[in-house]
Amino acid sequence: MIRKVSAPALVVAFFFFVGIAFAATAGNRPAPPPSANDALLPALSSIAGHGMLDIHAYPELEDLSDDVGARVTGSPQCNAAIQWGLDTMKKIGLQNVHAEPWQIFRGWTRISADAEIISPAPHKLMVDSMGWVGSTPAGGVDADLVTVNVYNLQQEEEQNSSNWRGKVIMAVQQGPRPENGMAAFAQFGPFLKKAHDAGAVAVIGGQGGGKSQGMHLTHTGALGFNTYYDIPVVSIAAEDQEILERLIAHGKTVRLHINVQNKVTDAPANTANVVGEIPGTEHPEQIIVVGGHLDSWDLAEGSTDDGVGVATTLGAAEAIIRSGFRPLRTIRFVLFTGEEEGLLGSLAYVKTHKADMPNHVAAVILDNGQGPVTALNMGGRDDLVPAASQFASTLDAFGTITANDNTEFGTDAGPFILAGLPGINLDQDSPEYRYTHHSPVDTFDKVDEAILDRDATVQALVAFWIADRPERLASPWPPEKSAEMLVRKHDDVFLKLFGLWPFGNQGGQP
Ligand SMILES: [Zn+2]
Repeated sequence: MIRKVSAPALVVAFFFFVGIAFAATAGNRPAPPPSANDALLPALSSIAGHGMLDIHAYPELEDLSDDVGARVTGSPQCNAAIQWGLDTMKKIGLQNVHAEPWQIFRGWTRISADAEIISPAPHKLMVDSMGWVGSTPAGGVDADLVTVNVYNLQQEEEQNSSNWRGKVIMAVQQGPRPENGMAAFAQFGPFLKKAHDAGAVAVIGGQGGGKSQGMHLTHTGALGFNTYYDIPVVSIAAEDQEILERLIAHGKTVRLHINVQNKVTDAPANTANVVGEIPGTEHPEQIIVVGGHLDSWDLAEGSTDDGVGVATTLGAAEAIIRSGFRPLRTIRFVLFTGEEEGLLGSLAYVKTHKADMPNHVAAVILDNGQGPVTALNMGGRDDLVPAASQFASTLDAFGTITANDNTEFGTDAGPFILAGLPGINLDQDSPEYRYTHHSPVDTFDKVDEAILDRDATVQALVAFWIADRPERLASPWPPEKSAEMLVRKHDDVFLKLFGLWPFGNQGGQP
């Protein structure tokens, strides 16, 4: 399907070209000093133009959303998405298109989740199961409700776990929020194990024990990295949680009926990352990874998480191919699976290509929703921030884009950071993403075509700039240097809690 380019896209493209024209022919004024990017300008201009005028990211996202649909890793739908990715990459004209198989430790399927207040007053509750969790007995159970403060789980376990047998436990937030959010997230998993061991029948709480965002919305999601929890856990709409919290606050005994049914496999399930390339002309062995994640949750169709990143990755490839310019180094486009269960596809990629990691230069990942790119998070590589900032400033026709050395472990940039590379997270201004991601409203209508094309173009430009600059941008840092950086940024805390710390005792204390 081919769609007309929308008016806002044309306007942005127009300003972009006008900007270049002024830079190139500034009349009688003295010419600006040559910038490091001047040699790349013809290629970047052409890629920018094709990106804004000549790609199919939006209709591809519509196909992926409506025709392929939800794509839980290891499911038949995700396997269909893998085939869709291979077919689309070939259609665009990428080379060496192939699937790189890996296995997820368990397959998981949602069947149903229902809950209601029995007393004091009957009320149907809006709940959905979290991912990779267990089931109640068939037909569900009746149980009284107790709460735990997720900001103080250790004390709750010590003082109250003897009272959890036969109860539904609801996670609440009381007191000051802990400073390290990822560390707090990491502590919720061990709590779920203790709750199960203590005989609780179910837990109400989102990722990290968090509360739902938005009106009458649930947010599913995994509760750990590469982990299955036997206890059923549900996300509940914020309004319903408020009702339960008010009843508890007034000292009422709250009795619920809850019925959660899921299916989990005994054996690992097969899945794969989807890979295609634009080979480099001079240094084909040097690789810049560009990607997003193909897998999604299943309450809707995964359009913003991360259908957008899939579409921009494919759109970036199309923009570069149609420009006719070819980079000095290889750009490898990768659609990862298993991101939602703990960055499993990108971890598998780094493991598969371990021997070839010294030839990798960077990874450019887009997975922050439907908004415009605003920053290049350089994954702790502060040595690259000046060059990245200088380049980002040339993209001002696309809005303000800056660069910093922030690390992002909430998406597939993370494993590349652990490998010592600039795992670049394209940060985005996506205020509605906190409602759409993992929820029943993550649908295609939430995505704006002009912003999608713009983000695909920015991703293409960043990738090509890295792949085609005369000097190699980066080589992997030695492990001790990465470890030291991550300890300094306090990222080591949750990485150790999740079992993701590959550096042993390196890095010292902050
Ligand atoms: Zn995502």
